[in-house]
Amino acid sequence: MKMDKKFIEERKNDLEARKTQLKKELFTSADQVTENDYDAKFIDLGEKEDENAAEVEMFEKNLSMEKTLEVSLYNVNLALKKIEEGNYGLCEKCGGPINPDRLKAFPSATACMKCKEKSL
Ligand SMILES: [Zn+2]
Repeated sequence: MKMDKKFIEERKNDLEARKTQLKKELFTSADQVTENDYDAKFIDLGEKEDENAAEVEMFEKNLSMEKTLEVSLYNVNLALKKIEEGNYGLCEKCGGPINPDRLKAFPSATACMKCKEKSL
């Protein structure tokens, strides 16, 4: 089954919008190192003990946020690459088509529902 062009175009727009949003969120908690690599921000508040504790807490929050966002961004870029290569919407595990409704809800999905359930 070949995906229809309009559908892919719409998913591409979704992915581009998602990418912009993710980058915006990433910049609030991390500094960009390279195109796909970010480092969590460390904000220096001062030298007092409570300030140090607050720094660590903020850094840990930024770190976990940065990790989540970075993975999402990676998946979005991967999906965009697949669109370019013409194999978007195919399950990475079984090669079958991914349900269009699933792609609508989750445009960077890489596996079909069946394979996804199996891996859980
Ligand atoms: Zn599959």
